[in-house]
Amino acid sequence: MGISNHGQYLTQITRLGAFNCYLVHESDGLTLIDTNLPGSAKIILAAAKAQSADIRRIVLTHAHGDHAGSLEGLHKQLPNAEIMISKREAPFLAGNHQLLPAEPQNKPRGNFLTSKVQPTRLLEAGEQIGSLQVIATPGHTPGHIALFDPRDGNLIAGDALGTIFRTAVTGEFVPLFPFPAFATWHKPYALESAKHLLALEPNRLAVGHGKVLEQPQALMKQAILRSEMILAKH
Ligand SMILES: [Zn+2]
Repeated sequence: MGISNHGQYLTQITRLGAFNCYLVHESDGLTLIDTNLPGSAKIILAAAKAQSADIRRIVLTHAHGDHAGSLEGLHKQLPNAEIMISKREAPFLAGNHQLLPAEPQNKPRGNFLTSKVQPTRLLEAGEQIGSLQVIATPGHTPGHIALFDPRDGNLIAGDALGTIFRTAVTGEFVPLFPFPAFATWHKPYALESAKHLLALEPNRLAVGHGKVLEQPQALMKQAILRSEMILAKH
């Protein structure tokens, strides 16, 4: 387990070297982004305590088990914390993997967690959660979101991008850690989402798997170009 601060507002919590969730510091307490693997509640609560602040809000980038895994455990310990997920991803968390008629009919992939915990707020693109802006980033899953903190340009991208081995758009096969690629629903959407994220001109990139990158735009551009080349071949 590793806990590290990145700038004034962001704390990364890592389990097993490769599974991240984040605390975002707000004036009234903390927003937790993702809940990591099952069995992480204790570690996350200890990390919050170390920051001398309470978790007020829990936001899920998507409903895969390594991001939503400790939702239930945390909800038990923090019954008053708000629980948020995108409106499109909420049915996946409830166990309904059906696609909408307007969506590409590729089968959603990866290990979705099904939870009885009810979100208290369903998010749409453009909404605010404290300082964070909700950015729709479909591709890895249909309702995937990223969060952007304009206070210091932090982008918390979930699995829209990865930084293990190399910075890559989700869906690109990355040696050593191919799991997010296997779990990606729609690669062309993922590419469009990555372009949207680069257009925010982030100063710092924090992802579900891999280290936090400072000044990530050049590496994001490279990842997007590589993803474009790979998709053009198919
Ligand atoms: Zn995922």
